Amino acid sequence: MELRNCPECGRVFTFIKVNLCPACREQDEKDFEKVKKHLYDHPQIGVVELAEQTEVDESKIVRWIREGRIVGKNYTGLQVPCERCGRPIYEGRFCNECVHELTRGFTASIRKEQGEQKSKITFDNKAKFHTKKQLGLN
Ligand SMILES: [Zn+2]
Ligand SMILES: [Zn+2]
Repeated sequence: MELRNCPECGRVFTFIKVNLCPACREQDEKDFEKVKKHLYDHPQIGVVELAEQTEVDESKIVRWIREGRIVGKNYTGLQVPCERCGRPIYEGRFCNECVHELTRGFTASIRKEQGEQKSKITFDNKAKFHTKKQLGLN
């Protein structure tokens, strides 16, 4: 038996697969059903409008999208920002390019420190990275 604090309300509960206390979990399910229904009637809606019209927390909707419970690809308006570059994505935490960047990241960042910045930018251009943003980050 594992005790945890509910991330929503802070109450202590017995953790069984879902990281929410029973009360919040029930609320979560209700909210999810409400959002799903609303999406059915408004498949083009965006996250903010969806949150406003269903009175469900925007952060909850974002969480469901990141968890893949709501598949944004089916609802073109539902996008969440990539946690690294802010580009809109349909699920998960990072866009494909950032996943790519992050996996090859370590050696690249060492090279950058060694002053090979120029060649890195050329490489990024070829890979169609957002150069301005890259420069801004450097
Ligand atoms: Zn709770
Ligand atoms: Zn990204």
